[in-house]
Amino acid sequence: MNETTFSALSLPPALVAGLEKQGITTPTDIQQKMIPAIKTKQDIIGRSETGSGKTLAYLLPLFAQVDLSIRGTQALILTPTHELAVQVHKQAELLAKNAGLDIRTALIIGTANMARQIERLKDKPQIVIGSTGRILALIQRRKITAHLIKTIVLDEGDRLLEDGNYNDVQAVIKTTLRDRQLVLLSASVDAQTKTRAKAWMKEPVLLIEGTAQSTAVPKQIAHHFILTTHREKFVMLRKVLAGEKPQKAIVFINNPENIEVTVDKLCHHGIAAAGIYGQAGKLDRKNALEDFRNGRIHVLVASDLGARGLDIPGVTHVINLDIPEDAIHYLHRAGRCGRQGAFGCVISLVTPYERRYIHSYEKQWGLQFTQKDMSYGKLTDSKKTKKDLVQKPKSAAKNGKPIPAQHKKKQQHNGKKENFSQVKKKDCRNRKNHV
Ligand code: AMP
Repeated sequence: MNETTFSALSLPPALVAGLEKQGITTPTDIQQKMIPAIKTKQDIIGRSETGSGKTLAYLLPLFAQVDLSIRGTQALILTPTHELAVQVHKQAELLAKNAGLDIRTALIIGTANMARQIERLKDKPQIVIGSTGRILALIQRRKITAHLIKTIVLDEGDRLLEDGNYNDVQAVIKTTLRDRQLVLLSASVDAQTKTRAKAWMKEPVLLIEGTAQSTAVPKQIAHHFILTTHREKFVMLRKVLAGEKPQKAIVFINNPENIEVTVDKLCHHGIAAAGIYGQAGKLDRKNALEDFRNGRIHVLVASDLGARGLDIPGVTHVINLDIPEDAIHYLHRAGRCGRQGAFGCVISLVTPYERRYIHSYEKQWGLQFTQKDMSYGKLTDSKKTKKDLVQKPKSAAKNGKPIPAQHKKKQQHNGKKENFSQVKKKDCRNRKNHV
């Protein structure tokens, strides 16, 4: 798409100046398409690759449309996780501040104190951002006036329309007027999402694609996999972290129940890690994310649920300790790194059986994976096969052969604790509450 400016998209000068303060001057593809589209008041299904600026793509036109003379909720933004709601709310607050606009926003998420949220709503915020269940409860108590809502945004809409969330989302939408605008956005929009969303939308529904490219994964992200066994996966994870020394890495596991034990094991080995998972208290999850954002910890352990849509600048590595079970999850995990054109690298630890997933993700997203191994602390190209995973004698010396000097050095290094982001075990224990 040709380069344009935010002014050319007819955004108010205050918003353009506010963006400039954040160093944002050129709209991304999805912003160029979404900003004018939202202004038409049509219902929209939008798909754009991860990290492509989707949040501002809807926040900017919502800000431009807010009628400051009306007190009450004019726009509602629903997200599938609390963390994403917090992130969107922060962006909205920053935008209002930088633009010098008196647009009031409220963050409404479950697990937070409801009385305080009700207090906040007395301020009649024009934009409400949050999780579906709590927002529905507050609409039912008439603390949020649904009939004033002109636009509803479903951020990470495909997740919001999955079975576990669908009924609540529908209940919220049903409380609003029929002529409100509905906007659904995600990096992945499948047929079920489209069918379900369209049932609430008015024809003609605008379908927007962020970029012309066939893949939803940013091009500059490298995709690697390492062949290993189940038993060796954790050791391999430590090797990868010690070798790559990422400033920020997200380790994904499939079962949220395993987050705590994974964090504990990493901490036990002197790696500063924390986890985000559903059962943790709101404050613990917030602290874990804050620590990760500001670099106090270098490794965040997460599940697909917890990390959906998170925008954390500087995440260079995504490591799949468990390979995700479907292509959509691979896409969203990969999208946590390489944001806004930055470097990103996804390393999946797979058993010979799980290798088939790599082939299917290659096909589905048009990606190219490289097989790697960790050798002397470095990520190197590998042709290892299933046969090579069969247990070998512990050291060549056992067979009467001398250990190569290079290898000896490595063994000494491994004898010590990893020098990567060491923390006292005690610190990590304190952090156990994150997981
Ligand atoms: P998102 O895809 O909405 O999570 O945004 C990803 C990151 O891109 C965020 O940190 C935004 O602040 C940043 N961003 C959004 N739009 C632009 C833009 N037009 N130019 C530069 N950075 C942007």
